[in-house]
Amino acid sequence: MANGQVTTRSRLEAHARSLPLSLRERYCGLVNYGNTCYANSIIQALYFCVPFRKEILTFYAELQRRRERGRRSKSGVPLGDLVPVDYPYRNNLGGYRENVLTALADLFAEVHGLRGKSPNGAGVSVATATAAGRSSETSVLDGAVLAPQTSAYTGLVEPRNFIARVRQSSDLFAGYMHHDSHEFLNFLLNQCAESLREERRIAVSTTTDASKRSANPEESWTTFIERIFQGELVNETRCLGCETVTRREEHFLDLSLDIEQHSSISACLRNFSAHEMLRSGDKFYCNVCRTLQEAEKRMLIRRVPQGAGAPFETFQIFGSEYEAFLRVCNISDDAEDVDGLYELFAVVVHVGAGPSHGHYVTLAKSSGGVWMLYDDDQVEMVEDYSLQEVFGISESGQSVTGACSSDCGYILFYIRREDQTNGHAASDGLISTM
Ligand SMILES: [Zn+2]
Repeated sequence: MANGQVTTRSRLEAHARSLPLSLRERYCGLVNYGNTCYANSIIQALYFCVPFRKEILTFYAELQRRRERGRRSKSGVPLGDLVPVDYPYRNNLGGYRENVLTALADLFAEVHGLRGKSPNGAGVSVATATAAGRSSETSVLDGAVLAPQTSAYTGLVEPRNFIARVRQSSDLFAGYMHHDSHEFLNFLLNQCAESLREERRIAVSTTTDASKRSANPEESWTTFIERIFQGELVNETRCLGCETVTRREEHFLDLSLDIEQHSSISACLRNFSAHEMLRSGDKFYCNVCRTLQEAEKRMLIRRVPQGAGAPFETFQIFGSEYEAFLRVCNISDDAEDVDGLYELFAVVVHVGAGPSHGHYVTLAKSSGGVWMLYDDDQVEMVEDYSLQEVFGISESGQSVTGACSSDCGYILFYIRREDQTNGHAASDGLISTM
């Protein structure tokens, strides 16, 4: 067993070293602290979301600067520990507020080889990472972020602090039970966005720069979580009495789709926008008719997730059946920039029966184009055909995880790619399947 692990690790190391520097990544397993696969699986999927990784590691560089400032300010004691947690301007004193976001940043930095122990004792010191962050933003984005600063490309990381923060921050995840990874994803993204908004509120309210202070803190500023993951839906309801169409816009961080057996994600996306009749007990109150009326309702996508200046963006679909590429087609007439091609880059796979039982693993596509299987502390390369197995029953009835055929893709992560087809895509919205 130990030999097998050594072989797997050296194969991964050899694979990483065979790639050009710009495509090298670290492939780290994560220790399971008792039913924490729901969190490990999401962390691995998000780590392979490159725009998200860039943002979190950039945030980490800034966090380290604040920590250093805090350490220097009071004879080696971090200022963060000296200032009461509820002191409103705590952050501006060079202190910092530890939360799920900072714990996530530390975890990403460790996976990336920027901090903590690595198997060869390699890894970059905090000072180096901080200096890289200070010299210019580009050096963080181009250097420390994409190419890991390490001499070992595999490792085992202990997300102990991160899990402790999560358990501390949410009653839902407080215990040692198995949890739903989709719920965890929502929790994590919302917590991170909330922390960033709070930072922003404090920064705006305490700034000495009058021009910044006069700006409305609730202006159109958005966090990188929204820039990367958030899209917009339009809920259209047409009253059958007076034909008035009521439109209601809502934001989404992911789309939950009803998946029918043997149907594709593209087909499910189309179904998502199918007309639904509201009648009998489910009638719609029309403000024009001033009474309950039968109505026709449908949901359209108004804005697919946008990344400011990023060449690609992501969104997730909660569903099943493998499509390597996807085109979003059910868009509203006033949609903004939706003609995007999306590529699958990660799948959280549920192994076993029911979302509150069983086990989660992640398949993630590395920068080198090879799919990796993350099963807590185990990481291995898998063949492309393994992907199809988690989207339906394979011919052999065996899944990539070696378990039963009930394993299925649970959360699919797509990333926006530059469209190379110049609009010559198939009209059914599906570019290619494997
Ligand atoms: Zn009406």
